[in-house]
Amino acid sequence: ALASRRHNGFAFGSEVADQPRHEHLTLIGDMRTAMAENEFVPFFQPKLELVSGQIVGAEALLRWQHPTRGLVPPGTFIPFAEQTGFIREITPWLLATIIQQSAEWHRAGLSLVTSINISTLDLTGRQLVIETGRLLREHGLPPDLICLEITESALMDDPEVALRHLGELAALGVKLSIDDYGSGQASLGYVQRLPVHELKIDRAFVDKVDCRGKSAAIIRSTILLCEELGLSVVAEGVETDAELDWLKRNRCGLVQGYRIAKPMPAAMFRQWLADRP
Ligand code: C2E
Ligand code: MG
Ligand code: MG
Ligand code: MG
Repeated sequence: ALASRRHNGFAFGSEVADQPRHEHLTLIGDMRTAMAENEFVPFFQPKLELVSGQIVGAEALLRWQHPTRGLVPPGTFIPFAEQTGFIREITPWLLATIIQQSAEWHRAGLSLVTSINISTLDLTGRQLVIETGRLLREHGLPPDLICLEITESALMDDPEVALRHLGELAALGVKLSIDDYGSGQASLGYVQRLPVHELKIDRAFVDKVDCRGKSAAIIRSTILLCEELGLSVVAEGVETDAELDWLKRNRCGLVQGYRIAKPMPAAMFRQWLADRP
């Protein structure tokens, strides 16, 4: 098991089961305060369309701007929030923040699809469906400017219920994306059953893809699959020129990764867009 990281006397990691109960409560309390104090900040990572060279969207990636620990990445608190159910408070808050931000960009004339990551627990009830519909109407945002990224594992708990709620979300007009495609199970079954709009090829396949071999074959066949099904395809975690060139040659639709830009705060992202040639 991963060692929990300890700061200020309490555990801060994803191994919830290993931590004493009072530590859970402290961290949950901390997260609640964080939300009230606006310490949760969405960063944005651009999605580049290769054929046009345009930035067509951005993925919101949550960070915790902690007063003493600095910028905390989601890998340290999202799994904890998922295991304790606190994610049920984070996702609606994030959704409201992102829809408001997206509506602002839309009014400013930017044509960007903003993606947010959702978790298993977000799909167990109808809250997300209701909230999404309400927020889109309230802000007058075209639904197809919002995309929900779902990891395959997010569907595993109660697939039937998750599928029904995803169907309802799709019926609102928002886009659905399968995240980390290829790293989980049952992916093709979900692609078949869900009104999915996009597949994101897991970073593990993109890594060193120029070296040929299995990853190259997997990516090429996923690009073909998406062509056949009329889906967008995104390569995640593009870090090098060689990876980018390979993806261009193999007609991958969209790319995301440090080679294009790292995730950044909203204002910086706007500036980055404005500075592009
Ligand atoms: P993800 O949705 O698959 O997001 C991609 C992750 O890869 C992000 O890490 C991003 O910063 C990182 N990344 C992007 N380009 C590169 C690259 O070129 N190289 C490398 N090495 N990494 C790259 P991040 O922001 O730490 O997020 C990790 C995961 O945490 C996300 O994976 C997502 O599953 C989860 N997450 C992030 N924000 C949220 C959120 O608001 N809600 C939920 N439920 N999960 C979130
Ligand atoms: Mg994602
Ligand atoms: Mg991913
Ligand atoms: Mg992931």
